[in-house]
Amino acid sequence: MEQQAFGGTRTDPKPARSAFEAMKRGFLGRCPHCGEGKLFRAFLKTADHCSVCGEEFHHHRADDLPAYLVVVVVGHIVVGGFMGMEAMTDWPAWLHLAMWVPITLIMSLALVGPIKGAVVGLQWAYYMHGFGGESDALETHPEL
Ligand SMILES: [Zn+2]
Repeated sequence: MEQQAFGGTRTDPKPARSAFEAMKRGFLGRCPHCGEGKLFRAFLKTADHCSVCGEEFHHHRADDLPAYLVVVVVGHIVVGGFMGMEAMTDWPAWLHLAMWVPITLIMSLALVGPIKGAVVGLQWAYYMHGFGGESDALETHPEL
């Protein structure tokens, strides 16, 4: 049986792209296609296109997903860490606040960019939202 990438069909001529490799490159802030050019031109602002291979990034739709994923990851770590420390120590509330609030802020700010890059890489790997060369309107409104 022929192995198919997610979203592909047997008549689809597009070559399969490695989602893991694309997400890894995006996580590191690099172009998901070539791994060389920069994906971001500012903190969370993607470049319009890759300066090395020319891959266009402007049609990505990461939207709120990176923020949701950051909440899930950081929330589990911080809440789990807080509850563990609360059970093992008799620290006062102000000490917990002084420790967990900055950890939450630092982890969130450090992770939101790489996670957004990984989401853009995932969309690129699966030819989503214009990364396959078609207009995104065709996906949501096939009658157009
Ligand atoms: Zn590139």
